[in-house]
Amino acid sequence: MKESNLKSMSDLASLCKRRGFIFQSSEIYGGLGSCWDMGPLGVELKNNIKNLWWKAMTYRDDVVGVDAAILMHPTVWKASGHIDNFSDPLVDCKQCKGRFRADNIDLNAACPTCGTKGSFTEPREFNLMFKTQMGAVESESSTVFLRPETAQGIFVNFLNVQSTMRKKVPFGIAQIGKAFRNEITPGNFIFRMREFEQMEMQYFIKPGTQADFMEKWKEIRMQWHKENGLRPERLRWHEHEKLAHYADAAFDIEYEFPHGWGEMEGIHSRTDFDLKQHQEFSGKNLQYTEQDGNTVEKYIPFVIETSVGCDRALLAVLCDAYRLENEGDKENERVVMRFNPKVAPIKVAVLPLMKKPDLEDVATKLFKDIQKEYMAEYDLSGSIGKRYRRQDEIGTPFCITVDFDTLNDQAVTIRDRDSMVQERIPLANVQAYLKERLKI
Ligand code: ATP
Repeated sequence: MKESNLKSMSDLASLCKRRGFIFQSSEIYGGLGSCWDMGPLGVELKNNIKNLWWKAMTYRDDVVGVDAAILMHPTVWKASGHIDNFSDPLVDCKQCKGRFRADNIDLNAACPTCGTKGSFTEPREFNLMFKTQMGAVESESSTVFLRPETAQGIFVNFLNVQSTMRKKVPFGIAQIGKAFRNEITPGNFIFRMREFEQMEMQYFIKPGTQADFMEKWKEIRMQWHKENGLRPERLRWHEHEKLAHYADAAFDIEYEFPHGWGEMEGIHSRTDFDLKQHQEFSGKNLQYTEQDGNTVEKYIPFVIETSVGCDRALLAVLCDAYRLENEGDKENERVVMRFNPKVAPIKVAVLPLMKKPDLEDVATKLFKDIQKEYMAEYDLSGSIGKRYRRQDEIGTPFCITVDFDTLNDQAVTIRDRDSMVQERIPLANVQAYLKERLKI
């Protein structure tokens, strides 16, 4: 059998639209730049990824979760450095008014959009935060920002969480939530969005222990991506040479997307920068008190941060799962999404062979039973071959067909998505069969 991987992002984008994973935001109005909506299958896939992350990160003794507000006191962003530093260098083309990140293009070359030479303005810094107004009367209202990262919601709650949960350093705080960046050159489908979701964890540690904890979290986080089914040869480490103002070490987990290697997760040693800044700007003492027998030590903890874009992890899972089999062979060509069953949006499809009441009676009863345990689909429309193709394209691990023999032998045919092997299984054993294979 011939098989190929995903060749271009546009093949994936069209599958995602055709099958209900991802739609362009406000599509009937022509779309809104780099904002995307999750369709019924996309939200299921994304929820599975979020649940796996949440379980891996918070079902442990030393990490707890929070869900902070998107809007925060404006001084937070002054303290964090975002108001002064969270910008990209921007140039405009004077001819076509196109906008580009100055660090992404050759300023001496022709404009990539209109081809004019020498048409770029001088680079200027462009802050990536979205501003909005808070308060009913515009003239009296204050400017607030849509958060560009979830981390600050954790830093400002450090003492609340530490004291209420009686946590001792080292411990972590985890969060999943939306973040917003007015990116200059978004694109590559959902790789770079203006509204996206982050899954972040800040791990508070004693100063001086950061190298050890960095190693520990690097290992845990790489393992997580592999356990979701990403192929190891498409994952690699990238160490930052130029560090952000808050970091003393930074590594990215990169994935090989169709457009090249790209950052999926950052693991940063953020020192005590953020807590120190918030202590200074808020005037509140954010020190941690460590008591060991009679010795009392006070310090501002250091932080190891793991920060993964939920949508980027989802994009990697989609790219990795995509296979085109038997290309050009009309009878046998198929696209199959080889999701790890843990992340697959639909785990099982129940397909009555024909629209006949006695077949449907058995099939709906089976479907209702399966639905109690797993996200399942019932599909009655079209030929069985077409229905299998649809389930292959949405990555459903198992299809169960109820046929006329079922009425006599009380058994069904279960088809495996990857091998396409079909097995005859007694109805009474279906649940056990699925439990054994889905292991969820
Ligand atoms: P880049 O260099 O790609 O702009 P970054 O280094 O600024 O990204 P971080 O601030 O470290 O990214 O954000 C942590 C994670 O959030 C990234 O690894 C990525 O997965 C995700 N992320 C950041 N920006 C976006 C975006 N515009 N769209 C989707 N995901 C994003």
